[in-house]
Amino acid sequence: MKEPVDETGWIIKNVLSLPIVNKKEEIVGIATFYNRKDGKPFDEYDEQITETLTQFLGWSLLNTDTYDKMNKLESRKNIASEMLMYHSKCTDKELQTILKTKEMLDKDTADCEQKDMLKILQEELPDPTDVELYEFHFSDLDVSEFDLIKCGIRCFFEINAVIKFKIPADVLTRWMYTVRKGYRDITYHNWRHGFNVGQTMFTLLMTGKIKKYYTDLEAFAMITAAFCHDIDHRGTNNLYQLKSQAALAKLHGSSILERHHLEYSKTLLQDESLNIFQNLNQRQYETVVHLMEVAIIATDLALYFKKRTMFQKIVDYVEKSETEEEAIKYISSDPTKKEIVMAMMMTGCDLSAITKPWEVQSKVALMVANEFWEQGDLERTVLQQQPIPMMDRNKADELPKLQVGFIDFVCTFVYKEFSRFHKEITPMYEGLQNNRVEWKLRADEYDAKMALIEKQRKEQEEMAVKKAVNGEVEAGDEGKEGKRGGKSRTCEIF
Ligand SMILES: [Zn+2]
Repeated sequence: MKEPVDETGWIIKNVLSLPIVNKKEEIVGIATFYNRKDGKPFDEYDEQITETLTQFLGWSLLNTDTYDKMNKLESRKNIASEMLMYHSKCTDKELQTILKTKEMLDKDTADCEQKDMLKILQEELPDPTDVELYEFHFSDLDVSEFDLIKCGIRCFFEINAVIKFKIPADVLTRWMYTVRKGYRDITYHNWRHGFNVGQTMFTLLMTGKIKKYYTDLEAFAMITAAFCHDIDHRGTNNLYQLKSQAALAKLHGSSILERHHLEYSKTLLQDESLNIFQNLNQRQYETVVHLMEVAIIATDLALYFKKRTMFQKIVDYVEKSETEEEAIKYISSDPTKKEIVMAMMMTGCDLSAITKPWEVQSKVALMVANEFWEQGDLERTVLQQQPIPMMDRNKADELPKLQVGFIDFVCTFVYKEFSRFHKEITPMYEGLQNNRVEWKLRADEYDAKMALIEKQRKEQEEMAVKKAVNGEVEAGDEGKEGKRGGKSRTCEIF
């Protein structure tokens, strides 16, 4: 160029222009350099260093791009959880079906004093004795799903958590209602199961006297975890999440569903109007969240076998302790032991249907089986795989035998050890043994039926052989049966 480019009089003498390429080899820009300082033309060395520079420019552009995408993704996630919360959270109208401030005081909960709300709430809750809240044989079957929400709230009053940890009445009600809504309407892992696990945790602590090893705060965390432990369960197990390449399996490497139940529970607590831990101090808050993590992950049955020996050692010590104080000191002074007992309690709660009276157990076992069979159907149709016998509805007759096996290999240890740990828990072990008798009876009946069918089949076969020997064989059967009939077996007959 001979003329200046603008009024400053700047003239372009030399130009070096290079493309800016990102890591994906795409040209994302052009870097242009004008006029070397010494006035000489650009040389090969200049090309080399500017090439390195443009390479860095390309990479940083890609990084900015990725960062931008990440921010957008984060916003999308936030919007999605906002939408989810809107639909899954207890509404003001739903809140009023339990905490009836409008009916009683003609006021919204926001305009009420806590003491007035606590009074209204407690009057609405069921009497623990009427619903057998403290009983190991408690059954939800005659209680509506709505009334179970009230029973759940009652547990927190019974352990005195409401007063001691200043849980606002509206927050507690809204939280419990929201937990109920978080459970899907599926065959077994629904709100009824979630509630039962919470109720059993409550009963183990109170009636089973395990509370003595724990602080009020820890008991509060354990019951909370138990109610939430299967929230948003999809009716299929961890292996199915893996095999079907579900998003959950991509997010969590192990204990896939359990980690999801935990994340969901923690998300609820982020909303202040649902945060039942809102009046705890920092340290208390960290304690309850930590315990919830340990307790919910412990419901992964794959982890149960690993903790059996550790629990057995604790039970051995407690059994040979001379005084109650000695046992309490042994466990309470060691956070690890407390967590082992708590983890085993979660398993005991999760499997507690197996200890219920036979009328309850037989119904619940069928629900569990149905959910398994539904997964088996999905495995056949979606994954095109043959399900294991437990999930195969064509093998439904084997249910009693499978139940006996489940009792022997998984459940017996839990309840036998718990009744050795605390004699107050013996009713659970007795219930289990009684159900084993019932299932064994049916398994034997099935075996006898199968043996009879097999016997009849053999008899028919022998009849066919006899007929063949007597020359009564039908034309079509001659090829195969005729040959067999001519074997040494025929000689035996003669
Ligand atoms: Zn469960």
